[in-house]
Amino acid sequence: MHPLIVRNLLSPLHEWILGRRTFRYWRDLNREQWYAPEELRALQAEKLRRLLCLASDHCAFYRERFADSGVDPSVDDPFSVLGRLPLLDKGTIRANRERMTYRDCPAGVYASATGGSTGEPLVFHYDRRRIAYDKAARMCTHQWFGVLAGEREAYLWGAPAEIGRQEKLRTWRDRLTNELLLSAFNMSSEMMRRYLDSLARYNPAALFGYPSSIALLCEFGRSIGRVVRPSNLRCVFVSGEALDAGQRATISDYFQVPVADGYGSREAGFLAHECPDGRLHVMSQNLIIEVVDAEGGPVPVGKPGEIVITHLDAWAMPMIRYRTEDLGRLASGSCRCGRGLPLMDMVAGRRTDHLVAADGTLKHALSLIYVLRDIDSVGRFHIRQGPRRDVDIRVVPQRGFGDGERRRIESGVRRQLGGGIDLRVRLVDRIETCASGKHCYVTSEAVRTARAGSGEGDVISGEGRGKTGPLEVKG
Ligand SMILES: [Zn+2]
Repeated sequence: MHPLIVRNLLSPLHEWILGRRTFRYWRDLNREQWYAPEELRALQAEKLRRLLCLASDHCAFYRERFADSGVDPSVDDPFSVLGRLPLLDKGTIRANRERMTYRDCPAGVYASATGGSTGEPLVFHYDRRRIAYDKAARMCTHQWFGVLAGEREAYLWGAPAEIGRQEKLRTWRDRLTNELLLSAFNMSSEMMRRYLDSLARYNPAALFGYPSSIALLCEFGRSIGRVVRPSNLRCVFVSGEALDAGQRATISDYFQVPVADGYGSREAGFLAHECPDGRLHVMSQNLIIEVVDAEGGPVPVGKPGEIVITHLDAWAMPMIRYRTEDLGRLASGSCRCGRGLPLMDMVAGRRTDHLVAADGTLKHALSLIYVLRDIDSVGRFHIRQGPRRDVDIRVVPQRGFGDGERRRIESGVRRQLGGGIDLRVRLVDRIETCASGKHCYVTSEAVRTARAGSGEGDVISGEGRGKTGPLEVKG
């Protein structure tokens, strides 16, 4: 389908039928991205006041929370109200989901798909307004790289709810909206050959997916001597997990286009995106980002902490000071690109990407991942920690792996976790991807056991951050 027809007719029609004002929001975001900081703050103040009042009027949970905090959103300064409210964690959402929901929300109320991925996913409610803004933010940030709405885009992605169900319908719709979906669930050699053929034939303007899956596809293409460089391709957009420098180099070398990183999550929406100058800009038109320390207190600009968000355009279930469990820091200064949107940096891993050392301290998963990554003859691997802190490492050995490499792994892991840890290194032929189709490096039951009762039921894994991906209304 011709991009102009999709951009000017089919996509707006599709959004209009679904009751979403995506294209209008897109124009707003395009304009507001150049606002000066004080203009952005004024826009945020207006949206925040409306959100707080709406939460107070329609959600019993927030009404009580405001009363407990001694604030009145109808008269108090919205930013000072925000600063006095407690943080909102996943456990609190689980316990209060209905009481947090604005049932008569004019933009509808939809429940998130539970998905089939590991761990207990957070079920939350959202409305068409938020989805429309997420889509608009994608369109806006794609444009930063010269990719316009309606142009062909290939997705290497996978979420259980999006595959299987409604597959036929999707195929047709995808054809009309110029989207090609390749499943990141199935990355067998045979499928990857097909994906490369599809990409060559489809000639998309953009490729979107998990960095690990796209990097794997690039490595595979190289290994069989098949390099695909679609002539229309302008950018590879990655999201859903942390992008490391090696993956970025692998992908940009293979496709010879820039790689742009996006940060978001299913429950929190589209949060930040990298610009062509390589800086991560916060979509402040839609949200307020705070960075806090372990006690929930504010952290100075430039210092790392947990990212807490308030989504200004999610009305069905207001997310006010929601703890994402992701680590990041706010950055000062402005970007060469001239956008007024504030800057931030992600810090690798989640707060939950940890293992428990012999002495009970939490160790960042990366400390172990690096031990294995530094050894050339280690292919894929997976580190699993049992409830008694015992560690089981599975490695797919490559040529040259021998006893020396095994000893390097053992001593490296012991250095990180302590000598008393019960450790096993096993060689295997393959390692399955996670249910979500991504590659998980680490799972720790010991951390989960340590946190039991805290209301955080998420499985600890390298599954990384959430998804800015094809967020779809399934309602
Ligand atoms: Zn920039």
